[in-house]
Amino acid sequence: MRKAMIIPQNEQLSITISVGEEFKSIVWKAQFDMDFNTECLFCYSDQITGYRVEDEFGKAGKVAVCPHCEKVNAIYA
Ligand SMILES: [Zn+2]
Repeated sequence: MRKAMIIPQNEQLSITISVGEEFKSIVWKAQFDMDFNTECLFCYSDQITGYRVEDEFGKAGKVAVCPHCEKVNAIYA
């Protein structure tokens, strides 16, 4: 008898993009999601922008990016 292999899917955690990475809007097929009134972790900016993205393995997630220094500030659900 064959056993089915069950691999838990966790879309948010499986994305390979990480905080501090440079924003690659074209590669990640970024689509605007929402604005956040949150200070950037890396510069003076007091607003960051959320995008729905796909990493290079086709895994989807959402990232918040600073419009000034273009670094990923957060991965969110
Ligand atoms: Zn910044």
